Amino acid sequence: MRLLKVEELRKSFGGLRAVDGLSFEVAEGEVMGLLGPNGSGKTTAMNLISGALHADSGSIRLESDELMGLSAYKIARLGVARTFQLVRVLGGMTCVENVQAGMAYRKDHKFGAAAHTEALELLALVGLSKFADTPAVDLTYIDQKRLELARALALKPRLLLLDEWLAGLNPTELQEGIKLIRNLRAQGLTVILVEHVMEAVRALCDRCVVMLAGAKLAEGKTEEVLAQEEVITAYLGA
Ligand code: ADP
Repeated sequence: MRLLKVEELRKSFGGLRAVDGLSFEVAEGEVMGLLGPNGSGKTTAMNLISGALHADSGSIRLESDELMGLSAYKIARLGVARTFQLVRVLGGMTCVENVQAGMAYRKDHKFGAAAHTEALELLALVGLSKFADTPAVDLTYIDQKRLELARALALKPRLLLLDEWLAGLNPTELQEGIKLIRNLRAQGLTVILVEHVMEAVRALCDRCVVMLAGAKLAEGKTEEVLAQEEVITAYLGA
């Protein structure tokens, strides 16, 4: 079943067409890679889907809900969660408080002990149990990334947008990260993965969309797309 349908999405910054007529679909339960060289419009596309930016035109449907024009808050409440390329955690708050903050957007917002227990479970899921009461600012960069994921999951999202979440990990951490995302998919989560780490793309993505200059250059099964000559050229030319 289709979860997300993006049609003819456009966003310009002044004269620059960052996203220029982008269309794609994401099926429920799949991990879709959104690829492309630097500057091709991937992060802008994520910002448009999550409502951090408003598109100039087009349509973004999450099942029967039109997301165009909705605030980031409303889109989160409809079940779209994200992590950021540059990690954003609430530095002064502890890890468990950060995750509880992520629950605030949820329709079945939990409070008190129930929220605390669930936040601890999410911290365990991303491997941060021992840092529950540590201020987020004291975590390493990689652990802040883990925390950001736990906070995104606290929304109980239907669609998770991961923007270069696996970048900068060492080989062991990368394998752990891949395993974690596989685990989330096994639980039925749908994911759009913006990623440059090809090992992760190959290991995780059923399908990929490749962007170039704001538009779709290629789309299809991961191995087939990555073997296409125009895709290889786009990456080498970046
Ligand atoms: P990617 O994520 O694929 O690297 P981006 O979506 O970040 O690409 O950027 C696409 C293009 O839009 C780039 O040329 C970038 O410089 C430009 N861009 C992105 N955000 C802004 C902004 N807020 N203001 C002006 N230009 C922007």
